[in-house]
Amino acid sequence: MAKRDYYEVLGVAKGASEDEIKKAYRKLAMKYHPDRNPDDSSAEAKFKEASEAYEILSDADKRSAYDRMGHAAFDGMGGMGGGGGFGGGNFQDMFGQFGDIFGDMFSGRQGGGQSRQRRGADLRYVMELTLEEAVKGVKKNVTFTAPAPCTACDGKGAKDPKDVQTCGTCHGAGQVRMQQGFFSVNQTCPTCHGRGKTVKNPCNVCHGSGVKDKSRTLEVSIPAGVDNSDRVRLTGEGEAGGAGVQPGDLYVEIVVKEHKVFQRDGADLYMEVPISFTDAALGKDVEIPTLDGRVNLKIPEGTQTGRLFRLRGKGVKPVRTTMTGDLLCRVTVETPVNLNNHQKELLRELQGSMDNGAQSPNKKSFFDRIGEFFS
Ligand SMILES: [Zn+2]
Ligand SMILES: [Zn+2]
Repeated sequence: MAKRDYYEVLGVAKGASEDEIKKAYRKLAMKYHPDRNPDDSSAEAKFKEASEAYEILSDADKRSAYDRMGHAAFDGMGGMGGGGGFGGGNFQDMFGQFGDIFGDMFSGRQGGGQSRQRRGADLRYVMELTLEEAVKGVKKNVTFTAPAPCTACDGKGAKDPKDVQTCGTCHGAGQVRMQQGFFSVNQTCPTCHGRGKTVKNPCNVCHGSGVKDKSRTLEVSIPAGVDNSDRVRLTGEGEAGGAGVQPGDLYVEIVVKEHKVFQRDGADLYMEVPISFTDAALGKDVEIPTLDGRVNLKIPEGTQTGRLFRLRGKGVKPVRTTMTGDLLCRVTVETPVNLNNHQKELLRELQGSMDNGAQSPNKKSFFDRIGEFFS
């Protein structure tokens, strides 16, 4: 199947800014998140497709390679097991496979000669948090299935360690030089698949690969202040790379659920506070919620709808910063409904007593302007 254009996948223009790409990805990730679409393989496929596009377009180097060469930029860079792509293989959880498949391109090949240490593929786990969890930090378990060292052979690939021998084709280097047109390039050794070793009597559990799919549960500490797209890296908790190869890393990527009351923008929190028109006119202390309790918001006499009040230090302290943001409360003045006769009578009395010039200066100047317009 032909791969879709990454920009098309995210629904953004070619020249989209980093922020636009992040927003578009976040929207898709929320929509197709496997937690929200259990047992829906088309949603899972869309989720992986979007994650893959984001992985490339959110990285300046990878994006420019993609802009120059399209999908060909990442062809033939197969990760462990030669899957050479995303989402193939054994991912039952919400994993995208990446990391290792870019390694060759940005290190070994361009550097000329020196080949980089092979390692297991990195894993990505998308974790949904409530705003409170993201702001205060939380410990959560993640459970996923990924290649792990085979327990039968202790990850060596053979029952008897003496059966593991240096590969005769590449003499242990894991790579061989191949002629490709005018160029001579290093390629993964076809005999040992880059491991540098071959196994004479392979372990019958893992068939010599030294790895076996295994379900694991890890406790992950999410630091206080994380936000959408932040990633927590767990070194060495990615895929096992096979005998004698370092494991990859696990990246836990944060997606914060929408909150009923607060919207976050970096260090600041926003909320809407509806107040009655009498409170707006006469002034009142209103008790409002914060993320860790309640505070008093002083509504002064004559407050207009839309006015923004800033409560310093009641926002969020983003991870890796020392400053706490503010809580911004936008007041909306509510026109009274369902008035009884007595209340209407009081209001009519008020209405009759109002001098527009003094009590409603905006209204007066508006009608003055209209007057000029018609005259
Ligand atoms: Zn070899
Ligand atoms: Zn084994």
